[in-house]
Amino acid sequence: MHLLRGAVRNYAWGSRTALADFAGRPSPTAHPEAELWLGANPGDPARLETADGEVSLLDVIRADPGAELGSEVLARFGEMLPFLAKVLAADEPLSLQAHPSAEQAAEGFNREERQGIAVNARNRNYRDRSHKPELIVALGPFEALAGFRPVARTVELMRALAVSDLDPYINLLAGQSDGAGLRAVFTTWITLPQPDLDVLVPAVLDGAVNYIRSGATEFAAEAKTVLELGERYPGDAGVLAAMLLNRISLVEGEGIYLPAGNLHAYLHGLGFEVMANSDNVLRGGLTPKHVDVPELLRVLDFTPTDGRPIRPRPAEHGSTAGVEEVFDTPAPEFAVSILRIGDDRVGSAVEVPKEHAGPQILLGTQGRVQVHSAGGELTLNQGAAAWIAAGEGPVRLVAEEPSTVFRATVGI
Ligand SMILES: [Zn+2]
Repeated sequence: MHLLRGAVRNYAWGSRTALADFAGRPSPTAHPEAELWLGANPGDPARLETADGEVSLLDVIRADPGAELGSEVLARFGEMLPFLAKVLAADEPLSLQAHPSAEQAAEGFNREERQGIAVNARNRNYRDRSHKPELIVALGPFEALAGFRPVARTVELMRALAVSDLDPYINLLAGQSDGAGLRAVFTTWITLPQPDLDVLVPAVLDGAVNYIRSGATEFAAEAKTVLELGERYPGDAGVLAAMLLNRISLVEGEGIYLPAGNLHAYLHGLGFEVMANSDNVLRGGLTPKHVDVPELLRVLDFTPTDGRPIRPRPAEHGSTAGVEEVFDTPAPEFAVSILRIGDDRVGSAVEVPKEHAGPQILLGTQGRVQVHSAGGELTLNQGAAAWIAAGEGPVRLVAEEPSTVFRATVGI
């Protein structure tokens, strides 16, 4: 068991304050900090703090996968950590995107290999053979677009914007209130010639401005988001697509699970994100990066979703009853829970059992906790993370003050 020093990723949409403040580092930082990778992704592995200095978690796992991952995880996923955990700090919206299913990823990867597209080429869609289900859990207020909104509600939104150029699309959706109507409208918008977009997008933005000025509140968040995206990406079809998606606001501890084909864009906030260890992203706009429209349309799931955040359920087992909250997510690569140690348990030991013998990553998000395991002990402050190898067994937590710890493990 060691403290795990995450790898900071400096993307333009990141924050100069959120990640640094979270970890107690000086801020603002020189460059926007977008993500802190807590995992063993070859692209940027986290590092373990050992008595002999820092070592790459990827190297540590490669040197002894049996001890680090455990035989069960090794048999299921091979010699790699099957998930990647991140702290994500969005100051600006991320690109509109979706991820493929396992079958689509395998087929797409093989197809692009046959076509001879280099794995790091700009127009490469599938960089590995894995699906990439994701769970984002808010560490504070977090805003996102995710999944297609039920059609009747979208029709109400588009009518409220009072843009006559939207009438044909409203009629199309009103006459076909399932995924087929959404597919038709989205496909039309994302393939519109630029001169048409340069008329339709500004008309929608005018509608959003008028709606906000009118003082109406029902769709105020949706209208503001459309406006913000339109200011950043003028003439981008993704601005129109944003009208079709659920506009979701999370509070700390609430999450969004993103299965294959779910169109989404994170807008703003600090979150703990855990995903299958894959790089397969199909973009749908709001980005200067490569957008492959036919491939995106192939993977998108147009089935409307209710857009409600998911909340973890209290764990029932033994000593963590009342402490652990578990997210019921279906991806086999990861499982996420939150350990909340309140005033009444400060100073007393909390045993944290596991459903299986795989490794764990802990992230302190509030307070200060001593972590004890067969691999020794360490102190976890807010913003610090720890790696607990499979062989180091269950952990025992002793909080020095009311504390919250997020935990990522392999799914069962
Ligand atoms: Zn995503």
